[in-house]
Amino acid sequence: MKRLLMTLVILSLGTSAAFAQDVKREITRVTGDVYRFQNKFHVNMFVVTGEGVVVTDPINQEAARWLKAEIAKITDEPITHLIYSHSHGDHASGGTEYGDVPNVIAHRNAPEDIDLMEPTMRFDDKTSFTVGSKTFELTYLGPGHGNDLIATVVRPDDVAFVVDAVSAKRLFYRDFPGSNVDHWIEQVKKVNALDFDFLIGGHGPVGNKRDVAAGLVYLEELRASVLKGLKAGKSVDELKTSVTMAKYKDWGSYDQWRELNVQGMARHLKESGAVY
Ligand SMILES: [Zn+2]
Repeated sequence: MKRLLMTLVILSLGTSAAFAQDVKREITRVTGDVYRFQNKFHVNMFVVTGEGVVVTDPINQEAARWLKAEIAKITDEPITHLIYSHSHGDHASGGTEYGDVPNVIAHRNAPEDIDLMEPTMRFDDKTSFTVGSKTFELTYLGPGHGNDLIATVVRPDDVAFVVDAVSAKRLFYRDFPGSNVDHWIEQVKKVNALDFDFLIGGHGPVGNKRDVAAGLVYLEELRASVLKGLKAGKSVDELKTSVTMAKYKDWGSYDQWRELNVQGMARHLKESGAVY
């Protein structure tokens, strides 16, 4: 698993380097006191509650250090809570840069040494807590992309922060590395069942509920097309050509990841015994 994580980190560094001209770091206010922080291709959410700032994935040391300084320009409130979306190193690195955060929240399955931070609160299926004027509803998304991935919904703003399971108008990550894609689809269904207006994704632009539903349709269409092709005796290389998913050509990473999405779906369908 560690090796897989390292591979993911290296792949994402490679992607960043390849698009270095697009590198950016910016904070945008999504609604109310809910903010989106983008660091290159990674995004997190932070919320000013009136009684402390609730931050999420530090992304990396440099990003978290920069963000902490920027938050201090927005509010005098201290960072009181840190929520980890999951333990993958490209999102969950550098939390110590946030300072001595009294409340660190992660899923039960997150490793003991997540990001050198010791979670003070873990949960199994669902939990919620209130800080100042905001309530944070946390939901475990089940296995699929990792096994400790959670969604966070902020009330009363109705903003969801969801990482990696689904992003607005963006293809899914490469070949669904190391994942059971049917479990992954279940994760997207769980996100789709949540009640929210705005989606802050760990990648990609701000979206909404319709973007999650569209991501689910994409996955189901991809699965059906690849399954049909494999059952008809087509090779994976043939399917990479014929399964164009053309109506999604305007989505992010279409050119880079469409063939990998087909390949990963084919691998999963063979491994899971859906096709021989
Ligand atoms: Zn991840």
